[in-house]
Amino acid sequence: MTDGSLPQTSLRYELVCCGAPLVPRRVQTPVPTGSEVLLRTLAAGVCHTDLHLSDGFFDLGQGKRLAMTERGITLPHTLGHENVGEVVALGPEAQGMQIGERVLVHPWIGCGSCPACRGDDESFCTQPRFIGVFRPGGFGEHLLVPHARYLFPIGSLPPERAAPLACSGLTAFSALMKVEDLLAREPIVIVGAGGLGLMCLSLLQGMKSRGAVVIEPDAAKRDAALALGAVAAVAPTADGMAQLAGHAADGFGAVLDFVGSATSTSNAIPLLRKGGRLVVVGMYGGAFELPIPTLVLRSLSVQGSYVGSLDEMGALMAHVARHGAPEVPVSVRPLVDVNAALLAVRSGQVVGRTVLMSEASKPAAGSARPAAQVVA
Ligand SMILES: [Zn+2]
Ligand SMILES: [Zn+2]
Repeated sequence: MTDGSLPQTSLRYELVCCGAPLVPRRVQTPVPTGSEVLLRTLAAGVCHTDLHLSDGFFDLGQGKRLAMTERGITLPHTLGHENVGEVVALGPEAQGMQIGERVLVHPWIGCGSCPACRGDDESFCTQPRFIGVFRPGGFGEHLLVPHARYLFPIGSLPPERAAPLACSGLTAFSALMKVEDLLAREPIVIVGAGGLGLMCLSLLQGMKSRGAVVIEPDAAKRDAALALGAVAAVAPTADGMAQLAGHAADGFGAVLDFVGSATSTSNAIPLLRKGGRLVVVGMYGGAFELPIPTLVLRSLSVQGSYVGSLDEMGALMAHVARHGAPEVPVSVRPLVDVNAALLAVRSGQVVGRTVLMSEASKPAAGSARPAAQVVA
């Protein structure tokens, strides 16, 4: 079933060669089969992961690299995993969606049959089908989703505010859920006030929490963090660290590291109190050393946190329905600017999130403000 207006061809921006700009290409507009749902892309967020994917590797430190091809990524590839679209066609077995519905796409899709997928988290799948990573993503006019269960109606939420929830929002939410038991008792530490750190602060505002103190070298980002309710925002200097200590004399129960560099992780360990947890989310790259006696004697935990589960996405959408969309600054650019947008994110100058929108989906009036309500 379609809305009767599907074009013959569809434009997408493809990664043809790692390290090179994306290339515009016209392809046959996909036709959904089985349970698939075809969306016309309305908004696609730009994420640091898109940079790693376009570079073709993650930096593992000490000169070692994890190549994307080793993870099963093939070229040409369409990036973009933070997507909102309008349903324009349904496969014959697709259920629970109407043509014209505006939806957020949960991109962290697994094989459906491995132990992780049969459990509760497809994001741990060993044969993942993540949209924008292993399957074509949203840097194009149309997007094919395997099943309607990965789609969340956004109601009146502007597409450009909803799109970042798919990765940035879910990643921040999942990291917070890993230290949820501490939130109401003590302030946590957030390292890095980029898109994810700010998202985290904004989500915390709707939770029962003692807030967070933020470590961030960039003054404009520190200001953005304070505007989103950070208890304090300091530079990673001796003065800054001394200031932090004033907020937790015995150390902090949790540090969420949204940078994930050798320096940020090493610096986080001395901030933890006994039993403290370091949750590493950022993937700047490198490696860090942790003396084993320190790990044991202080009963520390170090946990990686990558995106989140479908259940957490549902919980995040319920949170947004109650408290409104996170107030993270969003800058909108036309899809045709995709390469310039990637460069801007790489430069580190973007405060908040950049979202690409096709010409047909201009931002809704008043979209600079957070939406008051989402119909989940
Ligand atoms: Zn699986
Ligand atoms: Zn992402």
